[in-house]
Amino acid sequence: MKIISTLEALQQERKQLAKEQKSIGYVATMGFLHEGHQSLMKRSKAENDITVLSIFVNPLQFGEGEDFETYPRDAVRDQAVAEAEGVDIVFMPEAADMYPGSSTIKLHVADRVDVLCGRSRPGHFDGVVTVLSKLFHLIQPDRAYFGLKDAQQVAVVQALVHDLNFPLEVVPVPTVREADGLAKSSRNVYLSEEEREEAPAIHRALQQAKQSIQDGTKDPEKVASAVKEFINSQTSGRIDYVEILSYPALKPVREIDARIIIAAAVYFDKARLIDNIVLEADGSIMDRF
Ligand code: AMP
Repeated sequence: MKIISTLEALQQERKQLAKEQKSIGYVATMGFLHEGHQSLMKRSKAENDITVLSIFVNPLQFGEGEDFETYPRDAVRDQAVAEAEGVDIVFMPEAADMYPGSSTIKLHVADRVDVLCGRSRPGHFDGVVTVLSKLFHLIQPDRAYFGLKDAQQVAVVQALVHDLNFPLEVVPVPTVREADGLAKSSRNVYLSEEEREEAPAIHRALQQAKQSIQDGTKDPEKVASAVKEFINSQTSGRIDYVEILSYPALKPVREIDARIIIAAAVYFDKARLIDNIVLEADGSIMDRF
């Protein structure tokens, strides 16, 4: 496994791989790797000759007062995890190299961000598409793997790839969960013992919503209210949002009669957790994009 930290070395490596006509799978992460990230690496390994993993806590996608400084980091362990998964190249750039000065070109996401995390975290997705545009140019992957845990990110990245004509396929990967249903997240380490016990209620609330839709409920407000009530009754967290929207367009729906996302974000003391499910009109889980 090669560990590359400069942009120039990565570009050199990429030129060599092009000569060898290797297909490239790419997994973008902020590190502190867990089984969610590993499922993306496994999928990439299965579908490509070479798998590139990037580990970069991107300052641009954190707002003021968010957890950029305290975001968990463990480069040594991450490298061991990547090696064990058979990753070929780990790219770990420095922020000063990725963003050497003030930029003349700024990217702005104009749609799909007035809801969910985009509304709670203004500018977040501008930071995401900026770093991904740079990484896509540097790595030139054939396929890029993204977790549906961050389903709004998948929707925005699909729009980025479509609008800016990146010649790559975005591959959405299902959410990996703990045995009790809690979505795996690097931020779970910041939950207190009590919060950790409560947190799976977010997933349970989403499962109940799915059941209610399968039982014939069509009113999104009714479903969202039940999700909120359940989370409030089972956790000490503060709900940021519970929303039901079309997917991937992320528009309000008056009736549940096509593919939708039910998404929730909950603030605990030191961590804000997100989770979602994407359902077809009959309440079955989306299994193909
Ligand atoms: P992050 O390091 O949080 O930026 O995540 C990097 C990638 O891993 C993103 O595409 C995430 O959606 C994905 N990911 C994070 N957690 C999970 C999970 N529990 N299951 C599947 N994918 C995940």
